[in-house]
Amino acid sequence: MAEDDIGESWNATDTAYTSAANRPGPVTRLRHWLTDLLMPPVCLGCQEAIASRDSLCPQCWSGIDFVGAPLCDRLGIRLPYATGDVMISAAAAARPPPYARARAVAHYDGAMRDLVHGFKFRDRHEIRRLFGTWLCRAGSQLIADADIIIPVPLNRFRLLQRRYNQSAILAREVSRISGVPVLTGALRRGRRTKAQVGLTREQRRDNVRGAFDVPPRQRPRIEGRRVLLVDDVITTGATAEACTTTLLKAGAANVDVLAVAIVSDPLSVTT
Ligand SMILES: [Zn+2]
Repeated sequence: MAEDDIGESWNATDTAYTSAANRPGPVTRLRHWLTDLLMPPVCLGCQEAIASRDSLCPQCWSGIDFVGAPLCDRLGIRLPYATGDVMISAAAAARPPPYARARAVAHYDGAMRDLVHGFKFRDRHEIRRLFGTWLCRAGSQLIADADIIIPVPLNRFRLLQRRYNQSAILAREVSRISGVPVLTGALRRGRRTKAQVGLTREQRRDNVRGAFDVPPRQRPRIEGRRVLLVDDVITTGATAEACTTTLLKAGAANVDVLAVAIVSDPLSVTT
């Protein structure tokens, strides 16, 4: 996809999610102008000077493999051809996931992998607004159907280690743009799980099985709700599946999954 095509579709999405009341007023516009003057915008990937804030330079744009149609409606992975109908991949037909639909912005490689690493491990949180815009575009149907947004939780140890739950940051951005409320604290990650790096799909599933729970007093906040689960990366789907199973047991009507990146070949992930 050409860079201009991407730019146009982003603008269309922005318009869809921006009500007149949310447009910046003259004071905000003046503040933005002054900020641009004092701190000129740079590419969020390579820090090269660019024309607008919260964006990427053409080289970094072209290094991102955006997940576009045709898609498997269940797993959100790209399919080789379109038939015009809702399509399901062979993988989803053979083993349907507990969640209804997954969507991701881009494949987890190239520039996207660097951006996600910076966001997760080097506290490069300035990219959250761009990620939020991308998530709202990739997940527009899921967001339209959601009652609440729930981020994939970290356990307390990991939260102390990383200081932030990056999925919660993404969930808040999607909420800010879309107006769908975020619910935190209802889905918890109880026991500490091993890092998923280097594990096979089955090992990952075993590793996260039973790791999540919804405290009984939180169940009324979940019951009957259509949930949009937000994560940073879908690797094998094991974490999203464990969260979904827990949320459905707690009474959620439906769970969809939205992530910034998806791994097309989970066995290739080494870091
Ligand atoms: Zn760049």
